[in-house]
Amino acid sequence: MSFSAYDEHMNTAANADAQELAKFSELAHRWWDAGSEFRPLHEINPLRLAWIEELAPLAGKRVLDVGCGGGILAEAMARRAAHVMGIDLAVKPLGVARLHALEQGVTNVEYREVATEALAAEQPACFDVVTCMEMLEHVPDPASVVQACARLARPGGWVFFSTLNRNPKSFLFAIVGAEYVLRLLPRGTHEYARFIRPSELARWCRDAGLVPQAMRGLGYNPFTRRYFMQADTSVNYLVACRLPA
Ligand code: SAH
Repeated sequence: MSFSAYDEHMNTAANADAQELAKFSELAHRWWDAGSEFRPLHEINPLRLAWIEELAPLAGKRVLDVGCGGGILAEAMARRAAHVMGIDLAVKPLGVARLHALEQGVTNVEYREVATEALAAEQPACFDVVTCMEMLEHVPDPASVVQACARLARPGGWVFFSTLNRNPKSFLFAIVGAEYVLRLLPRGTHEYARFIRPSELARWCRDAGLVPQAMRGLGYNPFTRRYFMQADTSVNYLVACRLPA
């Protein structure tokens, strides 16, 4: 697996791929351009936000968004009256996120450059809701991020993940379709070997003490150019977990 190269003896802050972070930093100035390579994130945002709110109402909650990038989800959750912290290890997207919140007058969101594992050591059991979307498939040791997310949630809290499944269909749709045919994403955005089967993610969650509660798939209709939530989790999917109270 892709994270076999990860050295357990390295500082936990090293659970990051410098090339991946550079890729997101390079594109950061276009993060809030809904016609750019970030269009998919803008389009799926209302769908995932609604699902999160259905399970874990956000108003007044302390929320952590892991791998927040330019803040599309973090800022939307702040607009739902949550107190949000967004973290990432790519510097430029964090700058873009801060500037956007400032311009929009959204004050209940803050952004920090800190590794998930490091924040878990600093602020364990502090968050009512932890979200970690479209990030695990870019990290050398995703199980370690899952573990850290579990530590960051308070007992009874919710932890949400989304990522890409690993099978021939997801290769065809998420890489060939999205990067080469429809050109929704730049080539090289995703690496197939890093995709994660729901069974793998569920095992990492359970090993971290989280109890998976619900799962949803995301679909895309290339004709209407619309994303939609569905039961089919064979390509892009979301998982909701809870830390027992
Ligand atoms: N979660 C956001 C952005 C997804 S893009 C959303 O769904 O809208 C993936 C993000 O993960 C990028 O911002 C990238 O910088 C971040 N990322 C990649 N590796 C990371 C790591 N090891 N630690 C923290 N963030 C990371």
